[in-house]
Amino acid sequence: MSTQPNQSELRVENLSMVYHTEDGQDVHAIEDINFNMDEGNLVVVVGPSGCGKTTLLNTVAGFLAPTGGRILLNGEVIERPGAERGVVFQKGALFEWLTVYENAVFGLKMRGVDEDKRHERVMNYLDLVGLTDFVDTPIYNLSGGMQQRVAIVRCLANNPSILLMDEPLGALDALTREKMQTLILKIWKETGKGVFFITHSVEEAIFLATDLFVMSARPGKIMKRSKLDFCHKGLDKDP
Ligand code: ADP
Ligand code: MG
Repeated sequence: MSTQPNQSELRVENLSMVYHTEDGQDVHAIEDINFNMDEGNLVVVVGPSGCGKTTLLNTVAGFLAPTGGRILLNGEVIERPGAERGVVFQKGALFEWLTVYENAVFGLKMRGVDEDKRHERVMNYLDLVGLTDFVDTPIYNLSGGMQQRVAIVRCLANNPSILLMDEPLGALDALTREKMQTLILKIWKETGKGVFFITHSVEEAIFLATDLFVMSARPGKIMKRSKLDFCHKGLDKDP
């Protein structure tokens, strides 16, 4: 058998997280999590509230140092946040008083990317999510779904190789949520980026995932793994 190099982009090894609370308790949030995420896959982690999903995502993002195990991205151990991992939260990460364009371009401006280049990149992604007509609209005038589109564009503009999404559609009404699920698939397909997506909706997980991981209640472990292909059918819809 030939020894192929491991093509896996993200590798999670024996990952555990124990929180030590102020009143002296140990909270075992996640325990012995192992998986590989191949380049460009859409991994969905589904599990009940409190099972450690956010903890897992925050360790991959580099916001939290795990108490056990390690995470490697292209062979390098993750120790801090990095531009190659973009994070989209459930809500609240935008500057409400700035416009769509100002929010979308913020990261690139901070990094000193030149004006023509950042304009081209941001307009391209605003077009992808259908927000071209709203560039000058302040965030506080947008619906929740449109705000999440801006959050996704801001993340994409930094050109990450993986998008980390922590229940990004969790605060939306049912109809908007369905449209946004289709949009997530479109973004995934058109950008070729890996997506690591967390949800507690089983239906959403099945609709989106190429790789589905089901977590147990706390301490969160991966109980079941499935390869799915409903996501290719979802791409036929119009977001
Ligand atoms: P989920 O995102 O699946 O709802 P979390 O990762 O947010 O789960 O939390 C997993 C468990 O860890 C929960 O029981 C939660 O109360 C606990 N937890 C999360 N953050 C902390 C913290 N900073 N200190 C103590 N316990 C925490
Ligand atoms: Mg959570």
